[in-house]
Amino acid sequence: MSLKLFNTMGKSLQEFKPIKEGYAGFYGCGPTVYNYAHIGNLRAYVFLDILDKTLTYLGYDIKHVMNITDVGHLTGDSDDGEDKMTKTAAERHQSVLEVAKFYTDAFLKDIDALNIRRPDVICKATEHIPEMIALIQEIEKQGHTYMAGGNLYYDISTYDDYGKLANLNLDELKAGAGKRKVVVVDENKRNPGDFVLWFTKSKFEDQAMTWDSPWGRGYPGWHIECSAMSMKYLGKHFDIHTGGVDHVPVHHTNEIAQSEGSFDEAERAKGPWVNYWMHNEFLILEGGKMSKSNGKFITLQAELPAEKGFSLKAKGYEPLDYRYFLLGAHYRSPLTFSFDALEGAKNARKALVNKTVKVLKDCNSKACSEAELSEKAKGYLDSFKGDLENDLSTPQALSRIQMAIKDSELKASEILFLINKMDSVLSLSLVKEAEKASNPAADDHAGDPDAAEIDALVQQRTDAKKAKDFATADKIRNDLAARGVIIIDTPNGPTWKRQ
Ligand code: AMP
Ligand code: ZN
Repeated sequence: MSLKLFNTMGKSLQEFKPIKEGYAGFYGCGPTVYNYAHIGNLRAYVFLDILDKTLTYLGYDIKHVMNITDVGHLTGDSDDGEDKMTKTAAERHQSVLEVAKFYTDAFLKDIDALNIRRPDVICKATEHIPEMIALIQEIEKQGHTYMAGGNLYYDISTYDDYGKLANLNLDELKAGAGKRKVVVVDENKRNPGDFVLWFTKSKFEDQAMTWDSPWGRGYPGWHIECSAMSMKYLGKHFDIHTGGVDHVPVHHTNEIAQSEGSFDEAERAKGPWVNYWMHNEFLILEGGKMSKSNGKFITLQAELPAEKGFSLKAKGYEPLDYRYFLLGAHYRSPLTFSFDALEGAKNARKALVNKTVKVLKDCNSKACSEAELSEKAKGYLDSFKGDLENDLSTPQALSRIQMAIKDSELKASEILFLINKMDSVLSLSLVKEAEKASNPAADDHAGDPDAAEIDALVQQRTDAKKAKDFATADKIRNDLAARGVIIIDTPNGPTWKRQ
């Protein structure tokens, strides 16, 4: 079989054909760092991580790029509401950059705890303003913009394919109707669906961050950052772009209009900006939307005042219980969150860890080699690969590992091989968790609040060394040393301790 992905563009399961043989470049819309990520947001990144690791599993070289939105995202996606970053900064009496740093660190801690591999490039909007300005100039050159009321707008009627991702009807959009209701009245807009590329006339007198530009001092519209940064790091044409389904009608629709609208004829002839659009469905809360104002905001591990929400950690759930819960549903199915379901995931994960304890004991922690696998064991591997190739079917992949682990016809050393291999994608740390379960004293990092983050950095150093990128490896070692964390290389791989 070959890898098949569901492409929102065209709404069908399609065979993945990379632009460059053996290489996949992809971009995932990252967080707006004005708040903690809630567990719904984290679903988007676990899905992206499965995509990342599946591509690696299938032998692709990958480049995974993610943005951090630290400027320009208003509380509504269509240029309405307040600036999310500025609003939080004012509430907390902090600068916008302090807010951004605080929540970026919290986000990275969450993704580390969920065993999500950090993207190869994590790029901040505020550090790419010149790239955004240059791209807007290209869009302007192609005749898609107009200035009104001090802001530079994208005129959607000048771009023929506008709305093709979401099957939007341009005539309806022009009238402000259709699937994407535009409720905000902005008298400067020629069409209600037009959007701002560059604001100079801020709606907020105290707009904290502004930059000089050919259109005057101001700040970028939200959508332009993803177009500019993805093209900077992945080129003008790349393989895959991801995000939650909420991004289809506005954010991604506008990203396409901007990026392809910046192309001249020669560039357009080379093909679309992005070949495959992938979107995860939502995590749904029983009884309403996740919001701090209704006390229903659920984080993975960050503590909140009781009236605002709570963390899964405070309720006794590990980040990996939540990862397991997410993997139990396909990324394109809406998933309702409930504590009953999370409890089920916790117990199933525990059972898998306990079985791994037994496997480790039975084979003395020695996996066989791939060449030593029986036909039956190879069959499991083939099926597991097929599950992933079938649009990242994690529920099937999870049941595959569950079947293999209890198959009495397989040798323990074979099962351990399968666990290691399958867990390179599922990332439930089964062997590590089993070692911890059978020898809790060996887990000398238990209770260290930074353990997951440090583990991730140590892993990055190992990866860098493997790739002969010694400068990065040394930098990670030195950065950790500056924090009082010493890496110790042992025959079983690196470990670490605090000084
Ligand atoms: P934001 O920080 O608001 O830009 O959102 C970060 C990511 O989370 C985006 O890809 C959103 O589409 C996604 N997202 C937001 N809410 C949910 C949810 N309840 N379930 C799944 N994904 C979500
Ligand atoms: Zn984006």
